[in-house]
Amino acid sequence: MTDKPQCDICEMIMKKDSFKVVYEDDEMIAMLHEAPAFLGHTLLIPKEHFRIIEEVPEKIFSNMFNISNNISTALFESLNIHGTNILINNGPEAGQKFAHFIVNIIPRTDTDGINMEWPPVKADNLKLENTHHFLKTYVEKAILGDFDEPKKITHVEKLVENDKDDYMVKQFHRMP
Ligand SMILES: [Zn+2]
Repeated sequence: MTDKPQCDICEMIMKKDSFKVVYEDDEMIAMLHEAPAFLGHTLLIPKEHFRIIEEVPEKIFSNMFNISNNISTALFESLNIHGTNILINNGPEAGQKFAHFIVNIIPRTDTDGINMEWPPVKADNLKLENTHHFLKTYVEKAILGDFDEPKKITHVEKLVENDKDDYMVKQFHRMP
């Protein structure tokens, strides 16, 4: 559990009646994004204030992943779409706008014009080898919980800065 600073997402959860909630249980709530990438874009949010993925307890994360799958299925069934992106922006450099962990479930069609692709550029073999070697060791450490305080703190601080920028929540909610 983390300290609960003033948080736009926590506030949204408190005012959930003014949002278009599609699912809720004790741990999480899902609501339609009102400025969606594509209509049906759903936000799945833990009710407790976790800032980034590393702070979400395994059990809650696992439940959220299952519910994401269910919501994705529901989007397929209800909206006649061709795919979904299940997207987590983890850290401001990755596009995270709020200091509260969120899973985006984005419906996709072949004509939606959303671009999440990057041009394929073959990696340098030696660099690939080195990264593989290095990362593999760190994955083992991560699984064993073998880090003192992970490097997540800097990106958390940036997120708290972003949170002061309340125009983002307007973008989220009542976009003109
Ligand atoms: Zn929060």
